[in-house]
Amino acid sequence: MNWLESLTPPHIRELVPYASARRLATEGQVWLNANENPYERDLPGQLSGLNRYPDFQPQGIMALYAGYAGLAMDQLLVTRGIDEGIDLLTRAFCAAGQDQIMYTPPTYGMYSISAKANNVKALSVPLLKTWQMDLPAMLKAAEYCKLIYVCSPNNPTGNLISRDDIETLLEQTVGQCLVVIDEAYIEFDLPSSAVNLLARFDHLVVLRTLSKAFGLAGLRCGFVLSSPQIIQILQKVSAPYPIPLPTETMVQQSLSEQGIMAMQAEVIEINEGRDELQIKLKEYSFVREVHFGNANFILFQVADAATLMQALQADGVIIRDQSAQIGLENTLRVSLGTPTELQLFYSAMEKFEANQ
Ligand SMILES: *Cc1c(COP(=O)(O)O)cnc(C)c1O
Repeated sequence: MNWLESLTPPHIRELVPYASARRLATEGQVWLNANENPYERDLPGQLSGLNRYPDFQPQGIMALYAGYAGLAMDQLLVTRGIDEGIDLLTRAFCAAGQDQIMYTPPTYGMYSISAKANNVKALSVPLLKTWQMDLPAMLKAAEYCKLIYVCSPNNPTGNLISRDDIETLLEQTVGQCLVVIDEAYIEFDLPSSAVNLLARFDHLVVLRTLSKAFGLAGLRCGFVLSSPQIIQILQKVSAPYPIPLPTETMVQQSLSEQGIMAMQAEVIEINEGRDELQIKLKEYSFVREVHFGNANFILFQVADAATLMQALQADGVIIRDQSAQIGLENTLRVSLGTPTELQLFYSAMEKFEANQ
């Protein structure tokens, strides 16, 4: 072991960092691998007054998002994306070397990575074959966990988690742990949000972001929605000035009535494109299965994922291989791009088919 390795604690030495879409691929013209909104916002940002620190919590953003979500301002925390929300939850509620979180793969990678980075154990309770929660197994382990992460619509499977099951999980875990619902993609199916359960359950936490439907992944802005008590505890571990001033002014515009209407119009378009993509994918002979999703991406299984990934990449089309996840052998995820981007994806798929 060299000097630096011996200075690094074992849990960091062993940590495999999140393979973000931007780390994995740096070349290509058609980006369909990170579930971003393909439509770019044109937001003039404030670039004056930068000699002063911003607010600890930007009041303008809070008021607008509280209105959008139908909550009071003390029920939300503004973060640098959901990823920071996950990190704050881990650090605020889990003691290093002692506590444990629960996650339900196949799902988003950061729940377990954030836990491991903080020397917190991550208990995996896989989803059932239907990609719904294994409630009996989860409830059995709930008392030994501080946080339970549920992602709905789930990434990468795309399906919604049953509302009845979420209610049961909440009812059975009062006083035991926090239940965290990651709603990164909820704008694509807003009536399914768990936000209205916040009125009944103080231990519910809902995570939201502007990175997906709102088209602002580059701005880094997300929200933790919960009971005021939980928000206050998270504030203790927050950075003193998490939200940059230019972010604050741009986010305010995207949360204006006009900004929200623009987002909703894009959601309708993207959802229509998704339903079309799903039908199209079934037509390729090498596609084994296409999974219906409620978000802005589609998961599909092919005969050989690695060769298809290579062929698409050679044509500049970047999608995401999910084959390493439990139960997702030879399975790929493609994000809804613009009609032009999807056309390039279809062309590359047809070329691959012709070479079979
Ligand atoms: C993209 C994604 C995130 C990350 O959101 P940010 O707000 O950009 O940090 C979180 N959860 C899920 C399920 C995602 O797919």
